[in-house]
Amino acid sequence: MTQMARWSFHGILAFVSLLAFVTHDVYASVGDADPIYKACVEQCEKTGCVGETCFQHCKFSSDGKPVGGPWYLQEPLYLRWKQWDCHSDCRYHCMLVREEEREKHGGKPVKYHGKWPFHRAYGFQEPVSVALSALNLAIQFHGWVSFFILIYYKLPLTPSKKTYYEYTGLWHIYGILSMNLWFWSAVFHSRDVELTEKLDCSSAVALLGFSLILAVLRAFSMRDEAARVMVSAPIIAFVTTHILYLNFFKLDYGLNMKVCVAMGVAQLLIWAVWASATRHPSRFKLWVAVIGGGLAMLLEIYDFPPYQGFVDAHALWHATTIPLTYLWWSFAKDDAEFRTSSLLKKAK
Ligand SMILES: [Zn+2]
Repeated sequence: MTQMARWSFHGILAFVSLLAFVTHDVYASVGDADPIYKACVEQCEKTGCVGETCFQHCKFSSDGKPVGGPWYLQEPLYLRWKQWDCHSDCRYHCMLVREEEREKHGGKPVKYHGKWPFHRAYGFQEPVSVALSALNLAIQFHGWVSFFILIYYKLPLTPSKKTYYEYTGLWHIYGILSMNLWFWSAVFHSRDVELTEKLDCSSAVALLGFSLILAVLRAFSMRDEAARVMVSAPIIAFVTTHILYLNFFKLDYGLNMKVCVAMGVAQLLIWAVWASATRHPSRFKLWVAVIGGGLAMLLEIYDFPPYQGFVDAHALWHATTIPLTYLWWSFAKDDAEFRTSSLLKKAK
């Protein structure tokens, strides 16, 4: 084995053992460890009622099979898909009852199964986050379309009908990955089950990984194909491994948070260093985006319970990304104009 190969082998070993150490069960929270809550859920699954409220999904016979025929004759398919079943209804209503009692005695909200006690509205689990995700999706789409129009219809094209701007393709991928994230984010906050959570999480990791690549390539003005591949390949390999790990080995929030924060901080630093070194006409937009992005990230790390059962730190974080997204696409458009005009000047 060469020295290099030995290092990377040790590196992989260390990484794998680190993964094995940091994995732990994150689903257990203070709320669901509470004996009164546990008793309530158990009682509810037997009787189908919490206090006065009863659920039709809970019509189970003693052997656990639904009474009155198979499930598809009992409730519409979309309800099955949303898994608004007995178990989830019981957990939700027991949580509401328990939290009300807690508040009466001056207690603070606690987490249940790793989540804050949110109030559902119109069948949505976290309505504020759903609305904000949809708004983010709309702003992303608007930003991407306006970038598209600028670059193909307003700015001059090369004789072979290509853009002069060298980073067009990268911004397209960025736009598509962002819209993909906000779509799954809206789905996940509507109804959180393992599948929707994995999709939201994986989309976020993919976007963060790609925007790190974009940051390196743009800040270091990498236009050479070989150099671009050299930078992208290891990041893509790492991000792919991490996504596979989350989906097929363990959905570890602690580890994922560390990976996401590391990738987020890395790109903010790259943009910040570039913003202070470059004479780019739109560098002030970069500064605002970097500082705003940093503050927004604090919201994701500093977690507080939902105000009135609706607005928590995570929802606020989704609100801050709306103006930041608008600003970011405006920077992309400025950059495209700036690069195109300086390339044309050079050509003259
Ligand atoms: Zn979210």
